[in-house]
Amino acid sequence: MGSVTGSVDLAGCEWLRYDYGPARMARDRPDLFTMWRYRELLPIPDGPMRYPVPIGGTPLLHAPALRQTLGTPYLWIKDETRNPSASNKDRATALVIEDGLRRGVGTITTASTGNAAVATAFGAAAAGMRAVIFVSTDCLPEKLALMTQAGAWVFQVREGYAAAVDLSRTAARTFGWLDRNTGANPFTIEAKKTVAFEVWEQLDRRLPDVVIVPVGDGPTLVALEKGFTELISCGLATRRPRLIGVQAERCQPLVRAWHGEPARPTELDPRATVADGIAVIRPAIGDAVLEVVRRSGGAMVSVTDDALLSAVATLAGRAGVGAEPAGAAALAGLESAVDRGLASRLETVVLLITGREVKAGEATYAPDRVSVVESLDEVERELAE
Ligand SMILES: *Cc1c(COP(=O)(O)O)cnc(C)c1O
Repeated sequence: MGSVTGSVDLAGCEWLRYDYGPARMARDRPDLFTMWRYRELLPIPDGPMRYPVPIGGTPLLHAPALRQTLGTPYLWIKDETRNPSASNKDRATALVIEDGLRRGVGTITTASTGNAAVATAFGAAAAGMRAVIFVSTDCLPEKLALMTQAGAWVFQVREGYAAAVDLSRTAARTFGWLDRNTGANPFTIEAKKTVAFEVWEQLDRRLPDVVIVPVGDGPTLVALEKGFTELISCGLATRRPRLIGVQAERCQPLVRAWHGEPARPTELDPRATVADGIAVIRPAIGDAVLEVVRRSGGAMVSVTDDALLSAVATLAGRAGVGAEPAGAAALAGLESAVDRGLASRLETVVLLITGREVKAGEATYAPDRVSVVESLDEVERELAE
């Protein structure tokens, strides 16, 4: 069992600790390649897993044509688009719901820029739970359609994502719902760290030199660092990869903070970038991101929307991987990092491709499940109807 032995605070982010040792990493289940393979380092007690859909165990692609095009012989793609709702958000959703199923909680809530909400709607549907989602009124209609198709209740908030987070967290506290808000719930980081364990196993129990990751609220990047650190704590690795975090030029609070500069208003405009999945003005665990990037010896880089769109095309055309712009940000970030001397084309580099381009027909949109709200009272009234 994964017994948590305590927790420490890492720059405002709750960092769970375990009793570490080499035996925590199972070698004996080659057949079990989902995130539950690592349950000895996850905060769930013994007993059968209840979450009904396999999550994680995504491929690490060697992408030969892409390697040739870029002149990067040791490049790898960790294809997180292969998760059931097409993004890395499925990992956090699965762990939060697994915990809720064990505790008999019937409703899960989250705020989201889109993908966490889709993952929560799908995960809740599979688990027989109710999902109550809070998004900005800017959320893409295709993503709203996917949420309502899976039966979620969706509340839009005019003031944007930060206000949606406040409402969702208050609702969770007030009604006793599962709080899947990213960064707020430490389980979101515990779940996403399994990506680091998988990469290590897929590289024959070795770690890459560099991992490049898109950054929105921060848990994806912080969780990778936690996973690599835990491999070291278990005595299974000796050095950590450099982490390079990528943000869109038009919404890059953490790149500016990394350079110790204030961001201009044009660099804090989530509506202006194609990378909606990572367009977060006030990242939930931004300080933790800066701290772990620093201690990994890595950096933060920004990329233009043109570079993001070109990365989407290159991934499709040279690797056969369909990504949304935020999901392809690691590839755009690689070019930027190489230009700045932060990474070399001859290093072992892993690109985390986090989300697939969404598909949803017009017909799947259920307007009766979506409403614009301003207060918790309105939410309660709408759900009671
Ligand atoms: C959420 C998301 C990210 C980054 O997530 P954080 O953990 O919030 O930093 C990256 N790419 C896509 C497609 C996402 O949906």
